[in-house]
Amino acid sequence: MAAPTAEGLAESLRALTDAPEQAAILCDIDGTLAPIVERADAARVPPAASRTLAALARRYGLVACISGRSALDARRIVGVGAIAYAGAHGAELLQPSGTEPMVAHALESYAEPVREFASAAWQRLRGIGVRLEDKGPIAALHWRGAPDEDIARVALEELAPQAEDAGLAVHWGRKVLEIRPPVPISKADAVTGLLEGRLTIRRALFGGDDATDLDAFDALDAMVERGRLEAGVKVGVASTEGPADIVRRADVVVEGTSGFLEVLSALAGA
Ligand SMILES: [Mg+2]
Repeated sequence: MAAPTAEGLAESLRALTDAPEQAAILCDIDGTLAPIVERADAARVPPAASRTLAALARRYGLVACISGRSALDARRIVGVGAIAYAGAHGAELLQPSGTEPMVAHALESYAEPVREFASAAWQRLRGIGVRLEDKGPIAALHWRGAPDEDIARVALEELAPQAEDAGLAVHWGRKVLEIRPPVPISKADAVTGLLEGRLTIRRALFGGDDATDLDAFDALDAMVERGRLEAGVKVGVASTEGPADIVRRADVVVEGTSGFLEVLSALAGA
């Protein structure tokens, strides 16, 4: 699909730009704001995107990033204090200028079993280049950048059923296997949690690039369907690794992180 023209983009965003104080601007970070890099800890949000988010925060009812990262790590790489962060796919919520993320109560008791299983697995697999990321209630095992990515992926495919046998849940993302509490966690919960108690927000946009972002698309659709929102705008960031549904289900499709920055700029400049 071709990138939208400036006029087409402005038209698609009108539900938000017409009433910014009633609008929430929500987005994923990695692959949406920050280019995907070999090592997740080296990812950076370009300064222009951070500046634009800060400008949006002064104008819109709510601006928030929803990430698989821990909420504090999300804020670290975005670098904007005045917006909200939902971390670990919604398991954690950090309000604007907040100091401590709130962890969903149902998840707290699983933090230790998840950490133990993942660190034992990592001890066995780090020799083939698998990396461990601690995301609070979730642990992520990355194989991006392993000397032989296929070997690392196959090893993690063998690990996944062992996690399930241990009573934990697994989730696959872009070159990452996550070990999670066996409790539903999704970016849909993050969207719902962020809008809870913010009843003046009647319109929302969400932008994302990966499978977990489809849950946020679902949440917007559901809130529009039951009348909680008047409008929900789904922005799909197209990439070679992302799922086809991100493009198929989006109202607006953009190419990569630079395409998404154009969306943010259009929201800021309108
Ligand atoms: Mg992403």
